[in-house]
Amino acid sequence: MKKAHALFTLMLATTTFLQLSAQTPAGAHTTPATARTTDPGMNAPTRQSTTTADPAMNAFISDLMGKMTLDEKLGQLNLPGAGDITTGQAGNSNIAGKIKEGKVGGLFNIKSVAKIKDVQKIAVEQSRLKIPLLFGMDVIHGYETVFPIPLGLSCSWDMNAVETSARVAATEASADGICWTFSPMVDIARDPRWGRIAEGNCEDPYLGSMIARAMVKGYQRDFSSNTDIMACVKHYALYGAAEAGRDYNTTDMSRVRMFNEYLPPYKAAVDAGVGSVMASFNEVDGIPATANKFLQTDVLRTRWGFKGFVVTDYTGINEMIDHGLGDLQTVSALALKAGIDMDMVGEGFLTTLKRSLSEGKITLAQIGAACRRVLEAKYKLGLFKDPYKYCDEKRAASEIFTAANRETARKIAADCFVLLKNQGNVLPLKRGSTIALVGPLADNKENMPGTWSVAADFSKAIGLLQGMKDVAGDQTKIIYAQGSNLSEDSLFEVRAGMFGKALHRDSRPAAQIIQEAVQAASQADVIVAALGESAEMTGESSSRSDIELPKSQQRLIDALLETGKPVVLVLFTGRPLAIKWENEHMPAILNVWFGGSEAGHAIADVLFGDVNPSGKLSTTWPQTIGQVPLYYNHKNTGRPLAEGAWFQKFRSNYLDVSNDPLYPFGYGLSYTHFNYGDLTLSSKSLKGNQKLTASVTVTNDGSREGKEVVQLYIRDVVGSITRPVKELKGFQKISLKAGEAKTVTFTITPEDLKFYNSDLKFDWESGEFDIMVGGNSRDTKSGRVNWVK
Ligand code: BGC
Repeated sequence: MKKAHALFTLMLATTTFLQLSAQTPAGAHTTPATARTTDPGMNAPTRQSTTTADPAMNAFISDLMGKMTLDEKLGQLNLPGAGDITTGQAGNSNIAGKIKEGKVGGLFNIKSVAKIKDVQKIAVEQSRLKIPLLFGMDVIHGYETVFPIPLGLSCSWDMNAVETSARVAATEASADGICWTFSPMVDIARDPRWGRIAEGNCEDPYLGSMIARAMVKGYQRDFSSNTDIMACVKHYALYGAAEAGRDYNTTDMSRVRMFNEYLPPYKAAVDAGVGSVMASFNEVDGIPATANKFLQTDVLRTRWGFKGFVVTDYTGINEMIDHGLGDLQTVSALALKAGIDMDMVGEGFLTTLKRSLSEGKITLAQIGAACRRVLEAKYKLGLFKDPYKYCDEKRAASEIFTAANRETARKIAADCFVLLKNQGNVLPLKRGSTIALVGPLADNKENMPGTWSVAADFSKAIGLLQGMKDVAGDQTKIIYAQGSNLSEDSLFEVRAGMFGKALHRDSRPAAQIIQEAVQAASQADVIVAALGESAEMTGESSSRSDIELPKSQQRLIDALLETGKPVVLVLFTGRPLAIKWENEHMPAILNVWFGGSEAGHAIADVLFGDVNPSGKLSTTWPQTIGQVPLYYNHKNTGRPLAEGAWFQKFRSNYLDVSNDPLYPFGYGLSYTHFNYGDLTLSSKSLKGNQKLTASVTVTNDGSREGKEVVQLYIRDVVGSITRPVKELKGFQKISLKAGEAKTVTFTITPEDLKFYNSDLKFDWESGEFDIMVGGNSRDTKSGRVNWVK
């Protein structure tokens, strides 16, 4: 695999940096976020700043394009991978010749200021028109300082935290030569079999839109600064709806579903001013997104007013040959005509568009428009003024992987973990006790950064064993044993341990490895079992048909439970897992995703109670794999099952499992407890643009301070099209001291009632609405209002 090889090489080449000074990120995570706006994405008016023409830019680019040959214009549309570039040898690389000839618009996944400077030098000193290159990278959840995987980050429900993570990532990446990130990934996903669910934010368009906006804000505030980089929202569109959860598989859905449920986060990113968009691999309406004019032009540009550039995903154009759309010349022309501006890796544009032009299959104006958009991105980033704007060795030496950034990552990670169960208050752990720490993820720093941590040095991540030792203090005894391999199947482990994320396979017989853990457990007061998935069991091309814990780990759990000691499951995962059995038998479960560089410390902070967990799930967790896709904002159907019922003949349900999730969307416990008072609505009958307020008093009736995410859901009871049983429309993350009460108020306007009807018109309809407020999507207090136009 060419791609896997490129990423692996990049990771091996990761440079070590001296941490000379600390840096405080903007918007540091000190106070809990309060997130409530009325424009989650699709509703919002298109932001004008990205659509306003800049006369000076236009004049500059027109002048430049006037000097460009056709080949040079096509060169700007070409985005190869970094290939064989090594420090100090850029001039001898395969790519150098192409850059000199003006056949390259940018490069991606090349790491370090030294290399990037070398390559930029070739472009601006040795190519005829001296046009600078863009340098892109998959900076997905942090650069060298890695934050939790996006699915984990979304569980903070804290937009300040999300924005801060992107800001730190932008600061570090820009200090190392990168000016463009292939993030945010905002694909709505409702099928945990799909491995890339880990890279996205959730199953919900409202929360997904809020996060899309926060990420774009974090990456790109002001391009006059060299700490801001251009974001690229991906994968446009509907990549997360792959059939059967199999990566790259077919997607097909109605336009109303697309507009109401899947497109909002992409639009939110566009409205926030995102500079670029990446087309997805999948087809939509039978046309791959890369050749889909409806998506790339009619919706993105005409409807939403996007003025940036669109890049394909990796060989997205070439893959349309296998999709069955024609040969490379045909599919390249289709992509250009659909609205694609830049071709990642495949060189279909570079090698065939000239011929298509001479045969009258495309126009010079189409090539010119694409070239102009790529040049505009370079102009907006300030690369024409200073091509080395992002090549500051001093910044590279002092602003990457700093103590301050790692501290920020640790705090944010701790707020992303979700306490799924805590029977008998097994957690927090007591300092001074003896703890058996077991499991294949217990002493494994390489897997902590999670999938898509391209720039990270895995050897610097903090694993759980180290984290617990650092946090527990001298009085606490920790006895470690691996207890099991990740999986009994060694070949599966190879597939699940890619990109240098070692799994440290123990070759002894399974029974012997378990026995060692049982021996450790027998000496302990409590057992902490660090189990679940490896980092690469999710991410690209990591779909699973079975989302339970691997059998080797289930056997270890059985043996641990038999000791009669309390067992805390610390669950590592990049997707919702089917852990019904574990939920029934294990007293405490803390889901920690993949927490990033500081994962071990952050987990220990929560385990020992220094941080009270406050994460809430952003996806629904099924009881069994057979229930998927299972999501909270589903339709009622004409034969709904009665509330609380399991099976009724001729109702929409299963013979062998209830319709309920194991854990609902929005769910998560705390070491304290929150009590919700009744819902107060300002009116039961509203007209036109009146405002409705919905208030609930939340009381911390437990014994310690904690944070709670108060969630607002609305149901449109009758519509011209069927409407979901509930939709998230707001949330506030509040902090309450023990015994403290706060009244949380949401203001609802007709904007919150709007949806895309069957004419794809975004509007609201008179009628009844259920207003629901609660600590998760299942347990809510509700009231009904009548609202007429
Ligand atoms: C992925 C993208 C990524 C690109 C560049 C593709 O395989 O789908 O998300 O940005 O590679 O590395």
